Amino acid sequence: MKKIAVLSGKGGAGKTYVAVNLAAVAGKCTYIDCDVEEPNGRLFWKPEDVQCTTVGTLLPVFDAAKCTGCRECVSACRFHALMYVKEKPMVFSEVCHSCGLCQMVCPEHAITESVKPIGILEMGHHEAVTVVTGILNPGEASGIPVIRQVLKHAGDVTVLDCPPGSACSVMESIMDADYCVLVAEPTAFGFHNFRMVYELASLLKKKCGVVVNKQTEGYAPLEQFCSENRLPVLARIPYDPMLAERLAGNEITAECIPEQRRIFSDILEQIGGAL
Ligand code: SF4
Ligand code: SF4
Repeated sequence: MKKIAVLSGKGGAGKTYVAVNLAAVAGKCTYIDCDVEEPNGRLFWKPEDVQCTTVGTLLPVFDAAKCTGCRECVSACRFHALMYVKEKPMVFSEVCHSCGLCQMVCPEHAITESVKPIGILEMGHHEAVTVVTGILNPGEASGIPVIRQVLKHAGDVTVLDCPPGSACSVMESIMDADYCVLVAEPTAFGFHNFRMVYELASLLKKKCGVVVNKQTEGYAPLEQFCSENRLPVLARIPYDPMLAERLAGNEITAECIPEQRRIFSDILEQIGGAL
């Protein structure tokens, strides 16, 4: 099983464009959108036969008739998700990690668990590609449970469209990845964010390669950084207003522009060689 994660230090660098097109040239594969706060890969895929399932997290529920007010549960919760107010324990669902420890330590067996829906998992198909999308409900604090759920659907070859940036949700998405494709814009701002995401991937000892997107002219600090860190530049994709227009129309460019197909097939071949 091979998992290729596509990351970028910031939104708008072209991460979804690269992830979708890599999956499009991979033949039979699975595309997983882990960018659960803003999953837009499905706009390109327009998947068919979409099945939806609810994703939930477990929250403790307290039985007032059994609770003696010992507060063992409150002391045990290392996430400070419990408080004892008005003679009863109360949970702050936003910070509860569903670890189940409070239930284990309650001497009165006064705690059970209930499922709180926090998002949706969509699964459909676009030709040979299985398209899996995680969607976090608005207002939810953490998308990690949704990411964990969508990652369970990885196939033999999987392309992961990760959240932008370098936060916990990105770490969760790339934990089992075999290769990280770092999409960078050749600008000072793009380079700054690229370095942050590279540090995360390096910390997790991931094999990495770089796709420089929207290149007008070379950005020397980025090229120098890649050379000093022996980071292969898999492709330098020139800025092209015609391409931008087609992407705005949600076209999978590798399916309709031969040169785009060549670029992404070449990237995939290089990744295959590195693995
Ligand atoms: S540990 Fe059990 S009995 Fe003690 S306060 Fe919590 S719910 Fe009540
Ligand atoms: S399930 Fe874990 S995180 Fe949530 S309230 Fe209980 S101990 Fe705290």
